[in-house]
Amino acid sequence: MEAAENFIQQAMDMIIQEAVKKGTNVKEKVCEWRSPEQLKELLDLELKDTGESESKILQCCKDAIRYSVKTSHPRFFNQLFAGMEPHSMVASFIIEAIKTSLYTYEVAPVFTLMEDVVLRTMMELIGWEDGGDGLFNPGGSMSNMYAVNLARYNYCPDFKENGIYSSSRLVMLTSQEAHYSISKAAALLGLGTKNVYVVPSDYRGKMIPSALEEKIQLAKSEGAVPFFVNVTAGTTVFGAFDPIEEIADICEKHNLWLHVDACWGGGALMSKKHKHLLNGIQRVNSVAWNLHKMLMATLQCSAFLVRDKT
Ligand code: PLP
Repeated sequence: MEAAENFIQQAMDMIIQEAVKKGTNVKEKVCEWRSPEQLKELLDLELKDTGESESKILQCCKDAIRYSVKTSHPRFFNQLFAGMEPHSMVASFIIEAIKTSLYTYEVAPVFTLMEDVVLRTMMELIGWEDGGDGLFNPGGSMSNMYAVNLARYNYCPDFKENGIYSSSRLVMLTSQEAHYSISKAAALLGLGTKNVYVVPSDYRGKMIPSALEEKIQLAKSEGAVPFFVNVTAGTTVFGAFDPIEEIADICEKHNLWLHVDACWGGGALMSKKHKHLLNGIQRVNSVAWNLHKMLMATLQCSAFLVRDKT
């Protein structure tokens, strides 16, 4: 145990120095970029039959950090992560240290209660006065797929038993600026990407409600069944917020499941100044919200929330 403690202590000191201090220092590089060939030369990646000394392992850890992209660096602008949050990082360390899972109360009593409180607070921020349900899952893409799956189940309750053969041609609608995970969900769930009808956006990247209405009519005129609309609150490239209120009116009229992909822009709900961007979110059926983006939690921290508690 003493040896393990000693190794962990040394590793933690190194992590604080290399990943936390240097990784967030504007004077350091975001990444020491190397080609795959160069990196293979620089790093000792091959698995061996013999062990390594702890000092060699610590050096390998240091190199791993050195040649990795520091996404908490102030000059990292690629994915939509927003910097380092020390409390969240410590929480992640605790989770790794006790190595538990969230699937039952029996194995994760504290985290189960915590999850409940956090999800409840998020639902309050969304404005679901009667509450709802939700869970954390591995990424916003997964949340979007859960939304499509639930919407389909809601529309065809016998889908679980009969599979795809029992239903009409189902159509999903989303804007041209939506994240590709919506089409991926159509592919993975067997709906087919051709059945994702793309609704044009305006010059600022917001879905045009009248164009949505037209696409719904088009699907119906073809004998297909529109069942799901995705709006994006904070599109991946433009950061545009689709007009939820107007789209909710259309969905109510046609009895369509409305999902909001607030993976990135959900964080605006925490801001008195910007939360109006999501006006109408309380009317949607489901929400995907990534706390690891604008709210700076460590990866992956993605919530999927659904208004219907049944
Ligand atoms: N939705 C939007 C709008 C996104 O910008 C992203 C990722 O950038 C996702 C969904 C997917 O999230 P994840 O990478 O957690 O799967």
